[in-house]
This record gives sequence, C-alpha cells and structure tokens, in this order.
Amino acid sequence: MALEDVKGIGPRTVTLLNKLSIHTVEDLVTHYPFRYEVLQRGNLKETEDGEHIIIDGRVESVPILVRFKAGLNKMNFRFATASGVVGVSIFNRAFLKSHLTVGSGITVIGKFDKKKNVITASEIKLEPLSNKVKIEPVYHLTNGITNKNMSLYINMALLGCANQIQDYIPSYLQEKYHFVNKRTALNIVHNPPSAEKLKEALIRLKYEELFAFMFKINYLKEENKKSRSGLAREIDHQKLDAFIQTLPFPLTTDQQKAVEMIVGDLESNSRMNRLLQGDVGSGKTIVSFIAMYANYLGGYQSALMAPTEILATQHYATLQKFFANFSIRTCLLTGSTSKKEKEKIYHDLASGEIDMIVGTHALIQEDVIYHNLGLVITDEQHRFGVNQRANLENKGYKPDILYMSATPIPRTYALTIYGDMDVSTIKTRPKGRKEVKTIIKKNDEIPEILSLMYEELKLGHQIYVIAPLIEESENTDLTTVNQLKDQMNLAFGSKFKIDIVHGKMAAAAKEVSMNRFIQNQVQILISTTVIEVGVDVPNATMMLIFDADRFGLSTLHQLRGRVGRSDLASTCILISNNDTKRLEIMAHTNDGFQISEEDFKLRGHGDLFGTKQSGDMTFKVADLTQDYKILLQAKEDSYQYLLQDDNNDTLKKSLITSIVHS
Ligand code: ADP
Ligand code: MG
Repeated sequence: MALEDVKGIGPRTVTLLNKLSIHTVEDLVTHYPFRYEVLQRGNLKETEDGEHIIIDGRVESVPILVRFKAGLNKMNFRFATASGVVGVSIFNRAFLKSHLTVGSGITVIGKFDKKKNVITASEIKLEPLSNKVKIEPVYHLTNGITNKNMSLYINMALLGCANQIQDYIPSYLQEKYHFVNKRTALNIVHNPPSAEKLKEALIRLKYEELFAFMFKINYLKEENKKSRSGLAREIDHQKLDAFIQTLPFPLTTDQQKAVEMIVGDLESNSRMNRLLQGDVGSGKTIVSFIAMYANYLGGYQSALMAPTEILATQHYATLQKFFANFSIRTCLLTGSTSKKEKEKIYHDLASGEIDMIVGTHALIQEDVIYHNLGLVITDEQHRFGVNQRANLENKGYKPDILYMSATPIPRTYALTIYGDMDVSTIKTRPKGRKEVKTIIKKNDEIPEILSLMYEELKLGHQIYVIAPLIEESENTDLTTVNQLKDQMNLAFGSKFKIDIVHGKMAAAAKEVSMNRFIQNQVQILISTTVIEVGVDVPNATMMLIFDADRFGLSTLHQLRGRVGRSDLASTCILISNNDTKRLEIMAHTNDGFQISEEDFKLRGHGDLFGTKQSGDMTFKVADLTQDYKILLQAKEDSYQYLLQDDNNDTLKKSLITSIVHS
C-alpha cells in the first residue's frame, strides 16, 4: 500500500518521509521510536522550572479563550492540584472548552514555568490517566516533520492498514510464546500503555525480525548442503601426511581439527563454505597451505587471496619456503606484476600449468581464466566485499571456499554474518608463545618511552611505530608518520636504521620498505595501519601506537598481533592522553574475542566491518548487543520451521521468495 493512501498524508509529506527512507506503509509503521521519554506523575513542589510535568487536578475557573489571526487560539484557566493551584495555558484546543467545566477532573501534561506558576500544556486528558507514568515515543525526524506529526502519521497508517502488514511469525510459534498479534504489537510500540506491555511488544517484534533473518540464513545454508554441486576429490592421505611431517613444528590440536574438517569438505561433493577463525598468530596460514596441497593432490588449482600486496607477497614467500622440495608450480599475481609477466601467468593458469596462485583479490575479479579452479582461500575476508561467491559463480566457477579471519567476531555477529558458513576455530596458540605485555603511556612520557625502545634495540630486536596520520593536516594535532620519522631519527638515527611505510606510497616502494624490515636492514619501521594484517616479523618485539585512542580496540588488537610472534618477550605501548579507560581493556587481556565483545558493547560493530557492510547488518528493532538470547531462540525456531514439511505454507513461501529476490 502506498503512503498517499493513508488519510492525512499528502504529496508534500510523502517527499519528507522519503527522506527518512520511508517509502511504504510498512516502512512507516516500522519506523520505530529510537527511544522513549518516560514522564512520571509529578507535583508542583518537586518539579523544577522548565521541566515537564504530568499532573492531575480539577478545573477551578472557566477557561478564557483568546483568538488570534490565522485561526490560532489560546485558552487559560486555573487548575487545582493536590500540591497547589497553578495556571494552565493551552494553544489551539478551543474545541475542548465545553468539556472543561469547573470542577471536572483532568490530567494536564506540559512544561512548568515555576516563576509565573503556569503550565504550558501540550496535552489535556479529559479522563484521568489510568496508570502512573506516561511513555512517549521519540522518533528520528527530518525538517518539516515534528515528533507529534510523525506519531500522527504512524497512527493513521495503523488505523487504516495494519491488517495488510505481513507477520513473519508462524502461528504455532505465536501461540507457543503467547505473543500478541503484529497489529497490537505495533500499536503498543507507538502508543505504549505501560512499560510492561511495551517490553512484551518489543520482544515480539525483535523476535520476528530475527526469526525472518535467521530463516533466510538457515535456508541458504540448507540449499548449499543440498546442492551437491561441489567437487568430490580423491586425496592421497599418505602424501598429505608426508607433507605435514616436513613442517618445522607439530600442528596444534585446533590446527589438526581444522585440517581434518577442511579435507573432509574437499572430499565430499557438497561445496565447502567454511570460515577458519583464529586470533592473530594462531597459525591459520599453514592450515591454508595444507588445504591447498590437499586440493592439489585431488587434481585442482588453488587461489589464495590477501587484502594487501604486502601480505600477498609475504604469503607467497612463505608458500615457496614450505613447498621448496615439492614439484608444485606456484606464482604471485598483484597490481605490480608487469604486463608481460601477467600475460604469461594468465596463459599458464588457463592451460593448467600453475597449481597454486597467490595474489590480491584481483585473482577473481579480473578476467582471469582458470583451467580447473578447485579452491579459493581468502585471508582476512571481512576486508573484501561479501559477494565474492556470487562473483565466482557468475563466471561459471564453483570452487570450494575457505575464508580466514583474525578479526574475532562477537558471538552474535558470527551468527549473523557467518551464519551460512561452517566455522573452524583455532584457539590453542602455538607452543612457546609469550603474551604481549601492554602498557599505557601519556604523550609527555616520551623520554621514558625512548629509553624503553633503546633497551629493546640494544638486544638486536626491531620495533614498529604506528601513527594515525601520514602528514600534518590543519585541523588536527594528531601524531603523523613524518613527524615521528624526524623524532626517531634524532633519537636513534646515528645507530639504527629507520624507515616508513604508508598507504600513499607506491606498491613497489612499500614492498621495498617491508622487505628491508623483514630482513632486519631496518630496525624501526614507522607506519600507518597498513601493516595491520598478517605481516610476520618474529624479531620485532615492540610496538608503539601513538594516539591509540583514535583506533578501535579490534584494530589495536590486530596491530598488537604483529609482535609476540616468537618466544621473545614483547611489549606494546599505547600512547594517549584520552580515553584511557577503554585502552585499559587492552592492557588487561590478550584474548581477541573478549576484546571484540567489549569493543562491540562500547562502539557497536562499525569498527569491525567498515560502514558500508555495517549498513547491511542493521536491524530495525533488534539490537545484537542486547538481544543475543532472542537471536539464539529465533535461530533454533526458524531452523525447525524450515525443516517442517508443509508445502502449502504461504508464510514459508513468502519468506523464501523474499530471499530469492534480495
Ligand atoms: P595467523 O593465524 O595470524 O595468520 P600465522 O599463520 O601467520 O598466524 O602464524 C604465525 C606464526 O606461527 C608463523 O610464523 C607460523 O610459521 C607459526 N606457526 C604456525 N603454526 C605453528 C605451530 N603449530 N607451532 C609453532 N609455530 C607455528
Ligand atoms: Mg594470517
């Protein structure tokens, strides 16, 4: 139903509502209040000047009506309450005059001017309110629509069309939970009669939203299982084990488990769609190499994609190291690969002369043709768009897919964004790893920080220094890479080599800097967050992060994961004058999952996914930081519902149709 069909909404209002992304009646009635104002019954003595008041009493004088131009009017009368007599003024309610007879009991709601002893009423209730508090919805608005208008439009829409609004909860579940129907719930949310009723209605609407969402995810997962379109391979386990034996370390228990699951997926004919999740430094890379080797033994090509060139290059170097004694044909493809080389690589990929390719996500985006692509692995997948799979499918490839992520996702989000994937988690850390010691320093403690650095450098170790900006800008006084370069040169330039790396440098230059650091030709590397992901320099044992409060905790945790990558003791120094409470969480724990939960509570999920993707994750009424229990229930129920055999269920059909079209 169109907005225009609602009584009281004309074309001008439609334009304004559109600005708030309200395009249909359904959008309008689900334009939920973002908060509620709770107005308590008050008395004159305890109400301060200018405060809102709700107060009962009796009309004490005949209202005097004053009429202005343009049809405006104002009414004044005296009002007797238990806490004293007060004047009441109210605008544009001339029609109430005949009801306000002297002695009649009413409730007045308005703003109290203590000095003049007058309440400017926004509302007069002719019947005393039945309950003690009044709860007023507060809406997101746009210029031209007041809160009151909004409430009015919504109520008109509810009156006219609430029955046509789709209810996504099947009736047996409505009964099970004693939910009110959708129309009633909407009515309560927009006109709460009491806190209890409001809470019930909100739970019902949250449940509904999460139920529909989880139904979709469960549906996609089931379809994926059913499709059996995967590549079933025969994998020679003896050869695979032989490769694992050549590694310089034994796999941790969780690594072993992950390998088993992945190999099982590769052997089965349903397609793998698996997330390999593990804190920084937990050893995901080697698991991905084993997966690639298994895929190779099964006769297919593998592609490993990293979010940055630096990381792709590093993965490639590691790959070459681990497979040095195997006759596997590998190559690296990034933005800086020369045109001539690229053409050769394209040719060799198409003809099947390359077994494993490492690169940035150009590997699947450009018109690269594979001979038989069997496995795609993406490292730090949350940095890519979510649509890789569709992208590959459009090109006719149906490889097994493994995502790797070191960004610990709060449990709730893991369920929602990764809900249609199988998940392997690496929790056990490789043996001999020490926790990174984290300390917080103020900006004026630089001398002390420099001496800590010097101690570390003397031991032959290396240091990362992170700043939020590259160069000075006019409107902030944040620390910059260039500034630190000068400072560090002044302090250590005579004895140690210092270099910088940042996002504005050409890829080749970045790589040169990184490689010099990897080879310990440079001892202090100053950078922006470009080194955030994946880089592995075990001899780097200290990290300084300037203006640390500018970063989300998850980012800080990722950064900190660059040190503590060997059995050497490592330190992370967070430098900031602000928000040290939040930073203390970092000093207290090295557990990425705990940190992400805390960060999530403090900042929402924006920091984890960047704004664009977070937009896709926004629910209208559910709030994942609080509604985890409802989510779990909705997940369970929607799965049961999906499995029920009832082909005539119109609700199920409409849920499925909405998935196919989204
Ligand atoms: P991440 O999970 O952050 O990608 P990496 O795969 O880069 O971690 O592994 C971090 C370091 O730990 C690497 O130097 C790697 O060689 C090493 N490593 C991986 N697995 C083990 C293990 N089982 N025992 C000891 N060291 C390991
Ligand atoms: Mg990694």
